[in-house]
Amino acid sequence: MASKLFIDGEWTGSSGTSAIDTIDPSTGQVIETVPTASRGDVDAAIAAARAALSNPAWADLLPVQRAGLLFKLASLVDEHHEELAQLETRDQGQPIGISRMVSVTGAAEHIRYYAGWVTKMQGSTNPVSFPDTLNYTRREPVGVNALITPWNFPLMILTWKLAPALATGNTVVIKPSEVTPLTSLRLVELCAEAGFPAGVVNIVTGDGSVGEMLTRHPDVDHVSYTGSTAVGKLITMASAETNLKRLTLELGGKAPSIIARDADIDAAVGGNIMGATLNSGQVCAAYTRFYVERSREQEFVEKVVGGLAQVPIGPGADESNVLGPLVSAKHLSHVERLVATGAADGAELVAGGKRIDRDGYFFEPTVFTGVKDSAAIMHEEIFGPVLAVTAYDDTDELHDLINRANDTPYGLAATVWTRDIATSQRLANGIKAGAVFVNMPPIPDMAAPWGGYKASGWGREMGPWALDAYTELKSVWLHYGS
Ligand code: NAD
Repeated sequence: MASKLFIDGEWTGSSGTSAIDTIDPSTGQVIETVPTASRGDVDAAIAAARAALSNPAWADLLPVQRAGLLFKLASLVDEHHEELAQLETRDQGQPIGISRMVSVTGAAEHIRYYAGWVTKMQGSTNPVSFPDTLNYTRREPVGVNALITPWNFPLMILTWKLAPALATGNTVVIKPSEVTPLTSLRLVELCAEAGFPAGVVNIVTGDGSVGEMLTRHPDVDHVSYTGSTAVGKLITMASAETNLKRLTLELGGKAPSIIARDADIDAAVGGNIMGATLNSGQVCAAYTRFYVERSREQEFVEKVVGGLAQVPIGPGADESNVLGPLVSAKHLSHVERLVATGAADGAELVAGGKRIDRDGYFFEPTVFTGVKDSAAIMHEEIFGPVLAVTAYDDTDELHDLINRANDTPYGLAATVWTRDIATSQRLANGIKAGAVFVNMPPIPDMAAPWGGYKASGWGREMGPWALDAYTELKSVWLHYGS
C-alpha cells in the first residue's frame, strides 16, 4: 500500500514535512502515516490534471475505449474485493459485512453503471425558429474536478464522484478524509493498473487545509464535495471568492422516521434499528428523529430497546459483530457531548448513553424518549447510534407532523412506516427532503437521484443526474442557408 501522493502517473512523497496518522478505531492503534500535501504538491496535481485533459491518450479515446477503462477498473475492484473490504473495516471501523456488501460491492456497481453510460450519453437537436439553421447540443467535460470525501463510507462515496467524472472525460484530483485515506489510495492504484493515462486520476492526502487549497485554486473547475454543512459553506465562499467554480455539495442530514398508527411495528422496528445504527449511525441519511403515533409509542420503544440489546457490538473485523466503533476519538467526544445534552434538555434516557469501556471508540446504542422538538438532539447531526423518540397525534391531515418533521435546516432523507397509501403520499409529498423512503431503510442506489434540499446540499449524484454535474452543455448553431 502506497502511503504517498499520486501525481501525474507517479507515486511520490510530499514536498512538505507534515503527516497524519490513520488509526484503527477498534483499537486506537496507528495503522499507517499518510503525508499532508504541500501547496506545491496540490499545484502539481492540478497542473497534471489540466494537462491530461488535452492529452490525446485521454481526450481522443473513443467512448467505447473510455468505457473499457471503467469496466476494467470495476473488474479490478471485484478482484480485490476482500482486500478492499478488510482495509475499509480496519481504517473506518465498519463491520466487515457492511464493508463487503455496501462499500466494496457498491463501489464496483457504481463504476460499472457509469461505464455503461459512456456509450449512451446523447445530445439533442433543437427546433430553433431560425430558417436554414441546425442547433444541437454536445456534452463536454467540465475540466479539472476536485473530489473531496468524508470518512463514513470513504471508498463507496469516492466512486459516486470518480465514476461519473471519468465517464464524462474529466480529470480529477482526489482529497480523501484525513481520518480514512487508505481505500482511496488503493483505488487510485487500481486506476493506474486499469490503464487510465497519467494525470487523469491524481490523489493528494492531508487535512482540511489541503481541501481548502483545492477549493481556492483558480485552475479547478468543479468541486464535488461530500461532508459537513459547515465545511460546505466554507467551500461555497472559496468558490465565490476565486473563480466561481461549479459546486456539487452533499452535506449533512437529520433524517426523520415517522411511524404511523397503522405501521407494521415489527417491520418498522427492524428497519429503524438498521436505519439508525448502520455503520454505528455514521450515515448521512441515518434516522435520528423518531415521530411515533402516540398509541404505538410504548410498543415501538419497548421493541426497539429490546432489539438494540441483542445487537452484537465489537471490532468490525469479527464477522459476528453488527455494530462497530465510532470512527475516531474526536468523533466519540462529539457524540458524548450531544448525548449529555439529551437529559439536560429534559428527555428520558431509556437505553445506553455512554462509551463502552474497552479499547477503541465504541458507544452504546442509545435511546431517548419524550424528546422536545427544541432539544439539541432533535436538531444537531449526531452521527452516532442515538435515537431520539417523540410522539405525535394523528390529526389535521398530518400538517402538524409534516411541519415538525421539516423543522430542521437539513433535508437529505426521511422515512415513513405505514400501510396506508394516503398517509404515505401525504408525508412523501409534504416532507422537504431529497429522498423519502416508505417502509424501508435509507439505502441509496446508483439509478436513483441522491442529494439534499436546504442545508443538505446542492445538486444530485447518481443516475443520469451525476452526468449533468460533470458536463457542460454546449449549444452549437449552424446556418446552412445562403
Ligand atoms: P468534514 O466536513 O469534516 O470533512 C469532509 C472532507 O472535507 C474531508 O476530506 C476534510 O478534510 C475536508 N475539509 C475539511 N475542511 C475543509 C475546507 N475548509 N475546505 C475543503 N475541504 C475541507 O466531514 P466528515 O466529518 O468527514 O463527514 C461527516 C459529514 O459528512 C456529516 O455531516 C455527514 O452528514 C456528511 N455526509 C453527507 C453525505 C451525503 O450524501 N449528503 C454522505 C456522507 C456524509
